Amino acid sequence: DYCPGGYMPVSIGQTIGPDDRYQIIRKLGWGHFSTVWLCEDLAESQAYYAIKIVKSANNFKTVALDEIKLLKCAKEKDHDAIGYDKIVLFLDYFTATSLYGDHLCLTFELMGPSLLNLIIQSNYQGLEQEGVKNIIKQILLGLMYLHEKCRIVHTDIKPENILIAVKEPYIRNMVDHVNRFNELGVQMPKTYVNAMGWNEAVELYDQSHEEASSSNIYTNRLDPRMTSCPNKTYLNDFSKAIKSKFENRSLSPLFVDPGIQVKIADLGNSCWENHHFAEVIQTLQYRALEVIIESEYSFPADIWSVACLAFELSTGDFLFNPQATDHLSCPEDHLGLIWELLDGLPPYIALSGRKSSEYFTSSGSLKRISSENMKIWKVEDVLVDKYQWKRVDAILLADFIESLIEPDQDLRATASTALTKKWLDAVDNQ
Ligand code: ADP
Ligand code: MG
Repeated sequence: DYCPGGYMPVSIGQTIGPDDRYQIIRKLGWGHFSTVWLCEDLAESQAYYAIKIVKSANNFKTVALDEIKLLKCAKEKDHDAIGYDKIVLFLDYFTATSLYGDHLCLTFELMGPSLLNLIIQSNYQGLEQEGVKNIIKQILLGLMYLHEKCRIVHTDIKPENILIAVKEPYIRNMVDHVNRFNELGVQMPKTYVNAMGWNEAVELYDQSHEEASSSNIYTNRLDPRMTSCPNKTYLNDFSKAIKSKFENRSLSPLFVDPGIQVKIADLGNSCWENHHFAEVIQTLQYRALEVIIESEYSFPADIWSVACLAFELSTGDFLFNPQATDHLSCPEDHLGLIWELLDGLPPYIALSGRKSSEYFTSSGSLKRISSENMKIWKVEDVLVDKYQWKRVDAILLADFIESLIEPDQDLRATASTALTKKWLDAVDNQ
């Protein structure tokens, strides 16, 4: 993907932006459209930002220009509204030119790891309920602002897109890591820094406790550039070198402040209430019923994803993890899972989508899954039977989740009404 039309080649220490204002410190992440870098603002002391550098091909530019419009709306609509501060703040944008073309660069407030990192840290066991409630409440406040004030549908609520706010010590620690790597004399060829980034180098340390082999890291990272990185032996040696440096010189791993504040990130797939960019939206596991059957979608689709997130943060598992099998397509399996969890679907909803006749009979039962092959298993019982929750706790979370995956969008909880559910009682306002 480092090619004309692709990612911008970036080296640590390089400056970009108007008057070479921003200096690249380390890579923070990447997506299909962009790489994201920690930068120091040289015009202001101790100011750090996340800069998203978009691929240079025209189609990526077009998408990024739409993202900028959505971000500007979220930034300017109503500073004083509730939930405004639950959206990662967009600051500015500019164009940078590389040998691969012109790249739009978007500057954001600097955030830390995502909720996915938290879930992984929990060893896929889930977090304490107090923490989950606190996080979900903040996401709902952010969605209340996006939906009610900005009229924006996020369309991609999932753990990766909820970022944890970081405080000064974390940022200093992160910058310090780079300096200490340098002091320790760890050699990272430029191309390698691009391919992996400092973040992953630090993760190598975190994972060394689990004896994660570097080949694991090599294949598990979904970074498209990794698959074309030819030198596996080098990676192995490199990971060993890093591990021993950490062990010998007690370089501490990065930490996240426990008083977690979270914000919604990545408006890269978002759309306006009355101007959609795609018919099918959302990441599979978080996809709403109306999107699966290709009925109309709007704000309620985001609310469905919040239910999936609340379950996942609580248990470490997906609420729905559909798979294609020999007999069933992925959407059919998905509809079967929803059917089992909700004890059926009302026919007027099941039959309301453009794809309904592909999956449902004219009376609204699933075409290719017979009722004998379905096991009705409501959220409350799943929590008790599979996760050994106390019934009283299960009832509260199940009630919350069910009102957010109500099949009829008109009856589904909104961001505002979800905030009044009993499960969220007694959570401090963030
Ligand atoms: P894309 O549209 O290419 O998917 P994202 O906006 O999702 O790009 O950003 C890619 C990754 O960069 C994120 O998953 C996250 O790890 C990191 N990232 C994005 N924005 C920030 C930020 N403001 N602060 C810190 N890291 C960020
Ligand atoms: Mg993304």
